[in-house]
Formats: sequence, C-alpha cells, structure tokens
Amino acid sequence: MSAAIIDGKGFAETLRARVADKVQDFVADAGRQPGLAVVLVGEDPASGVYVRSKGRATEAAGMASFTHRLPADTSQDILLSLVRRLNADPMVDGILVQLPLPQQIDENAVIATIDPNKDVDGFHPVNAGRLASGLDGFVPCTPLGCVMLLKDRLGDLSGKDAVVIGRSNIVGKPMAQLLLAESCTVTIAHSRTRDLPALVRRADIVVAAVGRPEMVKADWIKPGATVIDVGINRVDAGDGKGRLVGDVTFDEVARVAGGITPVPGGVGPMTIAVLLRNTLVAAHRNAGIPLDRDAI
Ligand code: NAD
Repeated sequence: MSAAIIDGKGFAETLRARVADKVQDFVADAGRQPGLAVVLVGEDPASGVYVRSKGRATEAAGMASFTHRLPADTSQDILLSLVRRLNADPMVDGILVQLPLPQQIDENAVIATIDPNKDVDGFHPVNAGRLASGLDGFVPCTPLGCVMLLKDRLGDLSGKDAVVIGRSNIVGKPMAQLLLAESCTVTIAHSRTRDLPALVRRADIVVAAVGRPEMVKADWIKPGATVIDVGINRVDAGDGKGRLVGDVTFDEVARVAGGITPVPGGVGPMTIAVLLRNTLVAAHRNAGIPLDRDAI
C-alpha cells in the first residue's frame, strides 16, 4: 500500500476539542451555551442513529442540545410551525432538520423556512447562493469537512485538477463550489457523464459522493492523486449485519493514490465536527460576539 491514509477521525477529534474550548469562552462572554436544535420526523433507524450521535456530540462540546422527535405522520404545517418557533427561540443558534423526511412533507419548503442565520447545515438557498457568490454564509458540513482534510494534506489547492463525482445539493455541488473557491479546476461528474474513468484519471483530487459501493477502481486513479471517499454504503458481509464501504475500492485504490480517506473513519466523523463548528459560528453571530474562525 502506498497511499497515506487521511485520518478524518483524528482530525475531527482535534476540531471538536478546539470547538469545545471556544464554547467555554462563549459561555463566559454570553452567559449562555450555544444551542443546537435537531428535528427528527419518523422512525428511520439510520436517521435515529445520526440524531442521537449529533445530540451526544453537541453536549460533549458543552453546547445545549434540543432534540424534537415527531411522529412519521406529522403534517408539513406542524413541522413548519415547529421550525418557525425554533427560528424565534433565542436559546437556539442552529437548526437542523434530519433528512430524508416522510413523503407528505416537501423538503425544500422545510429548508426554505429555516432562518438562513440558523441554517447550520448550509442547505438553505440563501446559503447555497452565498457560497456560489463567494459571500460569507453557512457551508454544508460534509463538503466543508472534505476541504479541511484536503488542505491539511495538500496545503494550497490552487491550480489542481479536481473531479467531483456526484451533483447533489448536499455534497457534490457545494463540494465543487468550495474547490472552485480554492482555485482548483473543477469538473462535476454525474450519472450521465460519459467515460467517467477517463475523466477521473486526469484528476489530482477525486471526491466520490455517489452512494454506489466500491464504484471507483484503481485504474481510474492518476498515480499520487488524493482521493476523498464520501460514500457510506452498507453491503452484505454474510453475518446478517453487513459492513460499511465507501464509493471507492479502498484496497486497490490505496496502491495507486497518494492519499485516501478510509470508510469508516474518514469523511464521516468530519460531518459532525463541522456541524459543531457551524453552530459555534452561529452562536457568535447571534450574540454579536466576534470569533476568529482561523483559530478553529
Ligand atoms: P445523492 O443520491 O443525492 O446523489 C448521488 C449523485 O451521484 C447524483 O448526483 C448522481 O448523479 C450521481 N451518480 C449516481 N450514479 C452515478 C454513476 N454511475 N456515475 C456517476 N455519478 C453517479 O447522494 P448524496 O446525498 O450526495 O450522497 C452520496 C453518498 O455520500 C451516499 O453514499 C451518502 O450516504 C454519502 N454521504 C456521506 C456523508 C458523510 O457524512 N460522510 C454525508 C452525506 C452523504
């Protein structure tokens, strides 16, 4: 194996510790904790696990965690009125509505109702627009975590060829915007892209955010390229529980790449760490207290 393993878990722990330090300063200045409200609608088991781990991480960082669990048959009106209440609640700095939502609820309507200044997930169209325009706003946690890992490994990303596989609003598109802001030459590939292996082979940086187990193969990768694997896929391991794999065939790609994130332990832990960071930023903004973001 030649690639360096990019330790997202370790980086995320360090980031969470830095956030926890700054939370203490905030509490001393503002006289209250930063607050994150997480809303879960329905019983989706994976969403339940994410919401529990977000709540635990929020408290471990010294922030207040408000979890709202609503039944699967909740109407859109009821959910929107909860979001409006949270928008108006001065103890709540960040609001996250766990996706996916049950089919009777329009996700876009919910995201558009969250106050953009409390939108710590960065999914509101105002924040997407701010990112695309190079303005200050909230950036989706997973792609921001990927850029942090890339800069930590590579330093200046300027001029590098980057291929992002996937064009979702949550990962692919904001990832491409962030890499563009770092002056990479960015290509976004998707399900209609022709000859994906040839395209990926040109890249110094490959970000795979597709949701297809082990799709990216070693012969797609330019030797020495940096590979960020966002995919989280549960595959049959013959034990009834399954095992997690990414969108990249890890063992074979690691023989060619210069650096690669593992699954699990790569991008995944960064998502929650960046969520805490975004909540800390929101709290400072809402309280009118300056924050040196380069220090976190
Ligand atoms: P999505 O389903 O919304 O988007 C997938 C994208 O992949 C689409 O844009 C589609 O065009 C593209 N695609 C599909 N098949 C393709 C193909 N054969 N070739 C090229 N492109 C193809 O998914 P998403 O929400 O962006 O998530 C992607 C993956 O990342 C999933 O596995 C998800 O579980 C994972 N994820 C991980 C984290 C994390 O914290 N690590 C966070 C969000 C998503």
